[in-house]
Amino acid sequence: MAHLAYTPLSEIATTVQDLRATFSSGLTRPLSYRKEQLKGIHNFIAENEARIREAAFLDLHKPEQELTLGETAMIKQECVDAIKHLDQWAAPKKVSGGLVNTMNTLEVRKEPLGTVLVIGAWNYALNLLIVPALGAIAAGNTVLLKPSEVAPHTAALVTELLPRYVDQRCCRVVNGAAEETTELLTHRFDHIFYTGSGNVGRIIMTAAAKHLTPVTLELGGKSPTFVAKDANINVVARRVAGSKFFNCGQSCIAPDYLIVERGLENDLVKHMKAHLKEFYGSAQTSNSYARIVNRSHFNRLKRMLEETKGTIVIGGEMQEDDLYIAPTVVTNVQPGDSLLRDEIFGPILPILVVDSLKEGVDFVNERDQPLALYVFSEDKKVISSILDNTRSGSVVVNDMMIQFMATNLPFGGTGPSGFGNYHGQRSFDTFSHERSTIIKNLGMERANNLRYPPYSEKKLSW
Ligand code: NAD
Repeated sequence: MAHLAYTPLSEIATTVQDLRATFSSGLTRPLSYRKEQLKGIHNFIAENEARIREAAFLDLHKPEQELTLGETAMIKQECVDAIKHLDQWAAPKKVSGGLVNTMNTLEVRKEPLGTVLVIGAWNYALNLLIVPALGAIAAGNTVLLKPSEVAPHTAALVTELLPRYVDQRCCRVVNGAAEETTELLTHRFDHIFYTGSGNVGRIIMTAAAKHLTPVTLELGGKSPTFVAKDANINVVARRVAGSKFFNCGQSCIAPDYLIVERGLENDLVKHMKAHLKEFYGSAQTSNSYARIVNRSHFNRLKRMLEETKGTIVIGGEMQEDDLYIAPTVVTNVQPGDSLLRDEIFGPILPILVVDSLKEGVDFVNERDQPLALYVFSEDKKVISSILDNTRSGSVVVNDMMIQFMATNLPFGGTGPSGFGNYHGQRSFDTFSHERSTIIKNLGMERANNLRYPPYSEKKLSW
C-alpha cells in the first residue's frame, strides 16, 4: 500500500479560499493562461509515462496497453483538442433578437463558474480525475481535485507531479477518504463534478444542495447487452470478452450482463472460451490482465459468485492474496440472483437467456436506467425496436465501450446512472455559464416610450 498522505482537515478551508481568491483576481480568465495550463497537463502525462505506468500497475496491476488506451492517450488528446478549439468554444455566440432588438447585439457569453471541485474514482484513476479537471481549466475556473484514495499510488503521483506542471494558484489537490471529502463538502463550490457510486453521489448532492451548488454525477449501474439471433456469434463473443475483461471488469461502462436469445448461449460460451484463451492463455500469469483493486471489492465479488445459483461455465478461480479473479462467465442465471441485481464491477459475466428480445427489453425497463446499453444485431428492425424502447446514458451497436473514447459524443448517465456530461467541448460547456447578454446604445430613446407609463389603449394597440 502506498503511503498517501491525507490532507490535514485544518488546511482544507485555506485551500478553498486561495482558489476563490485566484478566481476573483481574474488570473484564470485569459485564454492564453488557460492554454498554458492545458499544455502543462499534457506535459505532465507525456513526460511521466513510466511513473504513471508504475503507479497504475501498483494500484490495479493495470497492463500498459490498457493504461494507454483507457487513460493517457485520451488525456493527451483532450488537451490537444481543447487547446486547438478553445478560442472557438469560448467565443461569444451571437443570436438574433427579433424585430425589437434589430439595433441591439444579443449574444451568449461562455463564462467560468468560479471554483469547482472534481472528485475522482479509482478504476481509471488518472483519466476520471484529469479529464474533468482539464475541462474546468479550459473554461477558466480554478479547480480543487480530490483523487480516489482507493488508487493511492496514482493519487500520490498526481499530488507530487501535477504542481510542477500546472499553476498551483489555479489547481490544487486535496487527499483523503470520507472524512476529508465530508469536510470539503462543507465549503461552497460553484460546481461539483463527482464520479463514483450512486450512494456517495447522494451524499454529494445533499451537501451541494445546502449551497445550491450544481453537480454533475457520473455514476454506474448495470449496463445490459442484447445479443440477437442474426448476429455473428463468433465476433460478438470476441468483442464482449475483449471489453468485459478490460481492466478486470472494473469499468463503469463494462457490459454487466448479457441478454441472449434462447439457443445462442452455448455457441457464445464456446467462442468466448476460445477468445479468452487467445487473449490471456492463463489469465493469472498473463501481463494483459489486471487485478481487483482491493480486498473489500474482492470479497464482494467472491460473495456474488458463491451465492449465485447459476452455472459457472468459464473461469471461477480466485486467489485472494493476489486479488485475482479469473475471467468468469455464468449461465442459467435467474432474475433475483445478485449477479442480475447489483452492479458487478468485476470480471464476472452472467448470461440471461430470454425467449424474445421483447422479454429482455421488459427486464431492462423494470430496472434503473443503465449508464450504457449494447446491442449486437445487424437487423435494423431489431436495433430500432431496442433503442426506441429503452433508456440509457449511451448506446453502442455491435461494439462496446468505444463511446468513452469518442470525445465528440457527450459522456454521461441518465436517471440513477447520473446526470450531466463531459468530454471534448461538453467538458468546457459543463464548467461554463451561458450568460445571456444584450448590448444596446443610448440612442433612439423615443422608441422606448411604448414601454413606459402612462399606459394607454393607443400604446397597447400598437
Ligand atoms: P465511491 O463512490 O466509493 O468513491 C468515489 C469518491 O467518493 C472517492 O473519491 C471517495 O473518497 C469519495 N467518498 C467515498 N465515501 C465517501 C463519503 N462517505 N462521503 C464523501 N465522499 C466519499 O466510488 P466506488 O464505489 O469506488 O466506484 C465504483 C462506482 O463508480 C461504480 O458504481 C461505477 O460504475 C462508478 N463509476 C462511474 C464512472 C462514470 O464515469 N460514470 C466511472 C467510474 C466508476
